[in-house]
Amino acid sequence: MSITELDKKYIAPTYARFGVELIEGRGSRLWDTAGKSYIDMGSGIGVSSFGFNDEAWKEAVIAQLGKVQHTSNLYYTEPCARLAEMLCSATGMKKVFFSNSGAEANECAIKAARKYAAAVRGEGCSTIITLQNSFHGRTLTTLAATGQEHYHELFQPLTPGFVSCPANDMEAMEALCGENTAAVMIECIQGEGGVLPLEANYVRALAALCKERDILLIVDEVQTGNGRTGEVYAYMNFGITPDIVSTAKGLGGGLPLGATLLGEKVENVFAFGDHGSTFGGNPVCCAGAISVFSRLDRAFLDEVKAKGEYLRKEFEGAAGIQSVSGMGLMLGLLTDAPVGDVLAKCMERGVLCLSAKNKLRLLPALNISWEELREAAAVIKEVCAELA
Ligand SMILES: *Cc1c(COP(=O)(O)O)cnc(C)c1O
Repeated sequence: MSITELDKKYIAPTYARFGVELIEGRGSRLWDTAGKSYIDMGSGIGVSSFGFNDEAWKEAVIAQLGKVQHTSNLYYTEPCARLAEMLCSATGMKKVFFSNSGAEANECAIKAARKYAAAVRGEGCSTIITLQNSFHGRTLTTLAATGQEHYHELFQPLTPGFVSCPANDMEAMEALCGENTAAVMIECIQGEGGVLPLEANYVRALAALCKERDILLIVDEVQTGNGRTGEVYAYMNFGITPDIVSTAKGLGGGLPLGATLLGEKVENVFAFGDHGSTFGGNPVCCAGAISVFSRLDRAFLDEVKAKGEYLRKEFEGAAGIQSVSGMGLMLGLLTDAPVGDVLAKCMERGVLCLSAKNKLRLLPALNISWEELREAAAVIKEVCAELA
């Protein structure tokens, strides 16, 4: 049986995979079984922050692999503690809980918010307000947090205590916030929802409202975090200070790692036994994350911004492209042609892209070369113009 046939026979059919099997990668270039090469504009959905076979990342991971691979959280390990220190000093957050995915990072954020609110504001203060069109994960609780009905339908009953509010609507938000509101959870740029940044004024007004009423502000930085927007975390583009930040995807640079950063109010909310994860904070994953995170300095982040600006200029007003949204190297293109057709044609011409709703979504590696970026932009423009 071919790999495609084996996969179809034995893997639960939850993914509509593209018809290629990728076998090797270098930087932002990938090769399939037929020897065809592709420029990768998706980086495994914003995960491979420094592309494939990045030397520094590989060295850090391999060095840790040669020491201790897993210990559980019953013991201290250096990469876990050092990474937590780096995350806190970059953000001003006070404590970190490590897990293995974005959904788990959000689960932890929700548990922290509920425990804090019940203790400080009273039993029953447990409601989490999220935004319509948001995406927070696939577990039953993070699905409840996800403000898109079509994800909910087949899996009732979901965790209670979540309500969703239209984005960029402070009046609606103020009306929903009440005695029982423990937290508001947002993505500064809705990723899966179609690469839609929230309005800056809205984000600031929301942060002020939360502060005034002691409602915790949770920012889901699973997709937007770790340099993606040209700041370490996307909330930094808005000049706000969240109470809780969740992140994952690009943090591990290709290994599974989630982190929930706890600010001043909630730094001591968890006590022994309140939460845990067998794999969370795995030393190999944390060693990879230290390699990623330690390179996100101002010069590097400015280059991410410059690359994003370059792509934006290329695409704005181009034939077959109606609009460009996003920040840094997280961009969404609304194309004349259906996005599925654009994706397929780009792949045929050697560029791998993503979609989000009806948008073409680009999340290339943060260190993608200018040359690869130019080549990919030319192909995408050509395809959008041709299919228009
Ligand atoms: C991808 C994503 C998640 C879920 O992350 P997983 O690692 O797939 O569990 C949660 N929130 C946002 C904003 C995401 O983009």
